[in-house]
Amino acid sequence: MTRVAIVTGGTRGIGEAISLALKEQGRTVVANYAGNDAKAKSFAEAHGIRVYKWDVGDHQACLDGCARVTEEVGPVDIVVNNAGITRDGTLARMTFDDWNDVMRINLGGCFNMAKACFPGMASRGWGRIVNIGSINGQAGQYGQVNYAAAKSGIHGFTKALAQEGAKKGVTVNAIAPGYIDTDMVAAVPEPVLEKIIAKIPVGRLGHAEEIARGVAFLTSDEGGFITGSTMSINGGQHMY
Ligand code: NDP
Repeated sequence: MTRVAIVTGGTRGIGEAISLALKEQGRTVVANYAGNDAKAKSFAEAHGIRVYKWDVGDHQACLDGCARVTEEVGPVDIVVNNAGITRDGTLARMTFDDWNDVMRINLGGCFNMAKACFPGMASRGWGRIVNIGSINGQAGQYGQVNYAAAKSGIHGFTKALAQEGAKKGVTVNAIAPGYIDTDMVAAVPEPVLEKIIAKIPVGRLGHAEEIARGVAFLTSDEGGFITGSTMSINGGQHMY
């Protein structure tokens, strides 16, 4: 029996690498995405992975989307909450919508997906949830009160849900990536990026595949004793 895995935001960037790593591990992977239909189509065709479009910040859409996956593919054993956005700006410039969108999608998405999938995992006695946090949720970042708060919230959410899942065979962990060479980081202005790279002890950006290997480990059968933890994958930029 192959385990069914949903990767949110699983069609590009870090999520794409996670989808491919879990497929390579023998999982039946489905990738969720938000709106980039062209990328989702080319990803699905290239890798033979089913794609499902819904907004993870929409509670009912998550319940409906996961019910569809269960019906069409099978009960969901693994959820990787990877979908995320940025709406950066100093507090003075940040609008309530900037705050709300980031909280709704980045943090609310984890709650919505857990509500949809955790009960089934618990009743079957096996499940894996990995939430993608951020170094900026651990350390804070100028111009990101919304993003840092949401990602920091993910780390608390992970530890709390891990306690609920522990006796039911469901592990819940987080990964806190440092700066990874995806579209999200490509949006950072070059001079700012140069300063960021100068602060990374290994002297480079990370690769999406380096995050994906961590997810593959945490979702493996062998990872059953790891729960409530945050794996930092950041080139040594933030250690604690
Ligand atoms: P990208 O911007 O490259 O990709 C984001 C993915 O999330 C896309 O697949 C996008 O779908 C999807 N997505 C966005 N909003 C929604 C939504 N409302 N519902 C469903 N899917 C959505 O991001 P990265 O790959 O760089 O980042 C992935 C995760 O890693 C994020 O949570 C990010 O915060 C986190 N992270 C990234 C770091 C980095 O350096 N890149 C560092 C630390 C953390 P679509 O293609 O349809 O737009």
